[in-house]
Amino acid sequence: MHEMSICESLRVSMEEAARAQDFSRVTRVRLAIGAFAGVEVEALRFGFDVVMQGSLAEGAELVVLEEAGSAWCFDCNATVPLAARLDPCPCCGGERLVPNGGTGMTIKDLEVV
Ligand SMILES: [Zn+2]
Repeated sequence: MHEMSICESLRVSMEEAARAQDFSRVTRVRLAIGAFAGVEVEALRFGFDVVMQGSLAEGAELVVLEEAGSAWCFDCNATVPLAARLDPCPCCGGERLVPNGGTGMTIKDLEVV
């Protein structure tokens, strides 16, 4: 499962941060997930609980901040907000769009002790 491997790399990043910044427990993780990132939030939550067992983030709260999507419209010559990746342009109805926002996933911050 895709979300499982996201959680695995999340755990590795947190373990590295813990070594570098000298903390031992993560109590809350805030993740920003783009509308076009292709991440199933429910699957991610499930994977998070499983993957974090026995790690420094066991029992940590996972907060997901959904990031709106946006795209460059060649017809409007502008960046437009876009709810779904395959939607037409909300301004001109055109379909010559290239997503330029909400495509990734980043750790916003960690609450640690
Ligand atoms: Zn447009």
